[in-house]
Amino acid sequence: MSYPIDDADQLIATAEEEMPPSTRSRLIAKLRMGVHIDDAARELGVSPQRVFSAARILSAFGFQLDATLTAERDPHLPHGTVTGYNKRCRCPECRAALQRRI
Ligand SMILES: [Zn+2]
Repeated sequence: MSYPIDDADQLIATAEEEMPPSTRSRLIAKLRMGVHIDDAARELGVSPQRVFSAARILSAFGFQLDATLTAERDPHLPHGTVTGYNKRCRCPECRAALQRRI
Protein backbone atom coordinates (compact mmCIF):
# COMPACT_ATOMS: atom_id res chain seq x y z
CA MET A 1 0.00 0.00 0.00
CA SER A 2 1.28 3.42 -0.85
CA TYR A 3 -0.10 6.80 0.06
CA PRO A 4 1.43 9.21 -2.47
CA ILE A 5 0.10 12.37 -0.83
CA ASP A 6 1.37 11.38 2.59
CA ASP A 7 4.71 10.45 1.06
CA ALA A 8 4.97 13.87 -0.58
CA ASP A 9 4.08 15.57 2.70
CA GLN A 10 6.69 13.50 4.47
CA LEU A 11 9.34 14.38 1.86
CA ILE A 12 8.59 18.06 2.28
CA ALA A 13 8.65 17.81 6.07
CA THR A 14 12.02 16.04 5.97
CA ALA A 15 13.47 18.57 3.53
CA GLU A 16 12.20 21.44 5.70
CA GLU A 17 13.85 19.85 8.71
CA GLU A 18 17.18 19.27 6.98
CA MET A 19 17.22 22.62 5.21
CA PRO A 20 15.17 25.05 7.32
CA PRO A 21 14.54 28.56 5.92
CA SER A 22 17.45 30.04 7.91
CA THR A 23 19.88 27.50 6.43
CA ARG A 24 18.48 28.08 2.95
CA SER A 25 18.90 31.83 3.13
CA ARG A 26 22.42 31.53 4.59
CA LEU A 27 23.36 29.16 1.78
CA ILE A 28 22.06 31.55 -0.89
CA ALA A 29 23.91 34.44 0.80
CA LYS A 30 27.18 32.48 0.70
CA LEU A 31 26.69 31.61 -2.97
CA ARG A 32 26.14 35.28 -3.73
CA MET A 33 29.46 36.02 -2.01
CA GLY A 34 31.13 33.65 -4.46
CA VAL A 35 31.50 30.64 -2.15
CA HIS A 36 31.29 27.32 -4.01
CA ILE A 37 28.15 25.34 -3.20
CA ASP A 38 30.16 22.37 -1.87
CA ASP A 39 31.99 24.66 0.57
CA ALA A 40 28.90 26.68 1.45
CA ALA A 41 26.93 23.51 2.23
CA ARG A 42 29.71 22.07 4.39
CA GLU A 43 30.03 25.32 6.32
CA LEU A 44 26.33 24.98 7.14
CA GLY A 45 26.71 21.33 8.15
CA VAL A 46 24.82 19.78 5.22
CA SER A 47 26.04 17.79 2.25
CA PRO A 48 25.69 19.24 -1.26
CA GLN A 49 23.61 16.17 -2.19
CA ARG A 50 21.19 17.07 0.58
CA VAL A 51 20.99 20.65 -0.69
CA PHE A 52 20.07 19.49 -4.19
CA SER A 53 17.55 16.93 -2.94
CA ALA A 54 15.91 19.65 -0.79
CA ALA A 55 15.94 21.92 -3.86
CA ARG A 56 14.01 19.31 -5.86
CA ILE A 57 11.38 18.99 -3.15
CA LEU A 58 11.09 22.63 -2.03
CA SER A 59 10.40 24.18 -5.41
CA ALA A 60 10.70 27.84 -4.38
CA PHE A 61 14.13 27.13 -2.91
CA GLY A 62 15.10 25.10 -5.98
CA PHE A 63 14.20 28.00 -8.24
CA GLN A 64 16.19 30.45 -6.11
CA LEU A 65 19.16 28.09 -5.93
CA ASP A 66 19.24 27.57 -9.70
CA ALA A 67 18.90 31.31 -10.34
CA THR A 68 21.77 32.05 -7.94
CA LEU A 69 24.02 29.31 -9.33
CA THR A 70 23.36 30.63 -12.85
CA ALA A 71 24.04 34.24 -11.85
CA GLU A 72 27.29 33.33 -10.06
CA ARG A 73 28.68 30.81 -12.55
CA ASP A 74 32.02 31.31 -14.27
CA PRO A 75 31.30 32.75 -17.74
CA HIS A 76 34.49 31.18 -19.10
CA LEU A 77 33.31 27.60 -18.58
CA PRO A 78 31.45 25.61 -21.26
CA HIS A 79 28.08 25.35 -19.49
CA GLY A 80 25.73 22.52 -20.27
CA THR A 81 28.64 20.11 -20.62
CA VAL A 82 30.22 17.50 -18.38
CA THR A 83 33.44 19.54 -18.68
CA GLY A 84 31.70 22.40 -16.91
CA TYR A 85 30.50 20.02 -14.22
CA ASN A 86 33.96 18.52 -13.80
CA LYS A 87 35.31 22.02 -13.29
CA ARG A 88 32.97 22.21 -10.29
CA CYS A 89 30.23 24.23 -11.95
CA ARG A 90 26.86 23.32 -10.45
CA CYS A 91 24.61 25.54 -12.55
CA PRO A 92 21.40 23.85 -13.77
CA GLU A 93 22.78 23.34 -17.30
CA CYS A 94 25.95 21.59 -16.12
CA ARG A 95 23.96 19.42 -13.71
CA ALA A 96 21.60 18.50 -16.55
CA ALA A 97 24.60 17.60 -18.74
CA LEU A 98 25.79 15.17 -16.11
CA GLN A 99 22.31 13.65 -15.77
CA ARG A 100 22.20 13.04 -19.53
CA ARG A 101 25.54 11.21 -19.37
CA ILE A 102 24.38 8.88 -16.57
ZN1 LIG B 1 27.65 25.53 -15.58
